[in-house]
Amino acid sequence: MEKPVLFCATSNAGKLREFRSAAAGSLTIETLPGLADIRVPEETGNTFEANAILKAVYYGGFTDGMILAEDSGLEVEALGGAPGVYSARFAGAGATDETNNALLLEKLQGVTDRRARYVCVIALARRGVMIGTYCATVEGEILTERRGNSGFGYDPLFYYPPFGCTFGEASMEKKQTVSHRGEAVRRMIGCLNAREC
Ligand code: IMP
Repeated sequence: MEKPVLFCATSNAGKLREFRSAAAGSLTIETLPGLADIRVPEETGNTFEANAILKAVYYGGFTDGMILAEDSGLEVEALGGAPGVYSARFAGAGATDETNNALLLEKLQGVTDRRARYVCVIALARRGVMIGTYCATVEGEILTERRGNSGFGYDPLFYYPPFGCTFGEASMEKKQTVSHRGEAVRRMIGCLNAREC
């Protein structure tokens, strides 16, 4: 039987790789055709869920197929949950993974409580109408220096105690087994299989 196709509205190559790997065997995930020519919507929500829904409804208007949109980020306990929905632009306009990580290290200098979590919310829609949202988190700690080149974003600083290494040191396949994104994809697939949505 042919696998159902979901169109994904992300230009983040790291996220796309992880979606494809987590859904392999159950779903085919394709980049939304023409994504590069579609104006990027402003992420005005105060929550990951609000932003994921906003993107799914917006991009769902550009295809008859099912669209998967996602909003994710890092919440650091000692920073009151920051950078949160601002994770991609923590270091301001033109921020990169490098500048975001540098700012995070600076803000946590001398801070002993290093607890943090990644949050992922996936929103699924068809023709601008919401089908469902799927949320997952993973808990870890922020190191004082980067370790590993795997993954993307804050992964070289995100230490996951059960693995004894950072997500930047773990392979993508290993990260997927416990990550916020891997678990949110599994929840979405479970829901699609059970036709609860
Ligand atoms: P979004 O495109 O607004 O959802 O941005 C999410 C941002 O959160 C990314 O650019 C990363 O900085 C961070 N982020 C989310 N998930 C991960 C992850 O799995 N690893 C590392 N950083 C992540």
